[in-house]
Amino acid sequence: MTEQYEFLTAETVPAYLASVPSLRARVDVDRIRTVSEIGDGNLNLVFLVHDEDGRGVVLKQSLPYVRMVGEGWPMTPEREKHEVDSLLAHHALVPELVVEVLHHDIARHIIGMEDLSDHRVWRHALNDGQTHDGAAADVGTYIGAVAFGTSALGLERLALAEAQARAINPELCQITEDLVFTEPSVDAGRNSVLPANEVDAAELAADETFVAAMGRAKWMFMTHGEALVHGDLHTGSVMVRAEEGSTQCTSVKVFDSEFAFYGPVAFDIGATWANYAFAAARATALGDPDRARWALGLVEQTWDAFEAEYRRRWPTRLDPRVWRDEFLEERLATWQREAWLFAAAKMSRRIVGAAKVKDVELLPEELREGAARGVLHAAREAVRVGQDTGPAAFAALVIDQLERHRTTGE
Ligand code: ADP
Ligand code: MG
Repeated sequence: MTEQYEFLTAETVPAYLASVPSLRARVDVDRIRTVSEIGDGNLNLVFLVHDEDGRGVVLKQSLPYVRMVGEGWPMTPEREKHEVDSLLAHHALVPELVVEVLHHDIARHIIGMEDLSDHRVWRHALNDGQTHDGAAADVGTYIGAVAFGTSALGLERLALAEAQARAINPELCQITEDLVFTEPSVDAGRNSVLPANEVDAAELAADETFVAAMGRAKWMFMTHGEALVHGDLHTGSVMVRAEEGSTQCTSVKVFDSEFAFYGPVAFDIGATWANYAFAAARATALGDPDRARWALGLVEQTWDAFEAEYRRRWPTRLDPRVWRDEFLEERLATWQREAWLFAAAKMSRRIVGAAKVKDVELLPEELREGAARGVLHAAREAVRVGQDTGPAAFAALVIDQLERHRTTGE
């Protein structure tokens, strides 16, 4: 039976704010100017509230079903607990890079948080052709801080066990297991592609090496509880800000971490790489190879900043008696290789699976055909990763496949 609790509406939000001291401190509840439901995601309700002085706050409430589909796809509303726990843990490690949580209503599954409406969702900015210099590196720093700080290297034994126990998140993990690892090659009735790409989806499903690699990736996802990973770190889970007329990013905020659990560090890395590939696929399709190369250059920026942050924290690890420097090198090398596999999974699922990305979806069909084909071929090549596991090699592979399969409709 689905749980009973009261859903917020634009009408009830002001009274709700008035009843919560930590939120009442952020906006003048007697002078509310606007309450708008701004949720563009697949899952939840999100309300943005501004008062007459322009101060704001955001409320996010999870529903007992998947918003994208409706009540026919029930989903535990407890997911807001995982979002709050992970945002708090991550914020404690890198406060400047993670949205601030102000309030948690466990009974009604509501999160009150910092208003980031002076930022943009990074995917939207990318799709508009903007560059936010420094954003990809900040995301890498975030992944490195989380990979270290929430792991056995950074948390005392009992604190680690408690964090692991709280972070068990099977319902959300199962969505990933099904949609990201299984369904790109085994259609469960939720896949769709353009008619012109049906042959590409069929080739993907028939690619034994790819399917076997997805089996390995799924196994890693389900068994490698290395750190409290974000779990859904695409460019729609990052907000960016730049001053008017400048390309320099002045603020980056990671949010929307309801898929967080103790999982593989490389899963978050690979997710970012795949999303840079989508931005590059869009640019290639639109005939802008310079921008495609720029987008894939972000792969290296994220990796380098991740590695630098992890190395920076390494001297503070808890048991240097056995976790020697060779282990550091081994971790980094392993994660770099695994990131290819996870990136491949993410690339394929966003092309053939249920939840698509606007980067590719907004392209006119005659251009989308080649973009989709290029991404799927890049995913199949990426699981065949060789000796060179560096981010530049990944970027080169993707560029090559995108250019090779580009369609112009002529
Ligand atoms: P979902 O879990 O449904 O995907 P998100 O957390 O991604 O929900 O939020 C949906 C949208 O709401 C985001 O894409 C963004 O546009 C907006 N949003 C979310 N949190 C904030 C915030 N703190 N400040 C401003 N806008 C936000
Ligand atoms: Mg979202």
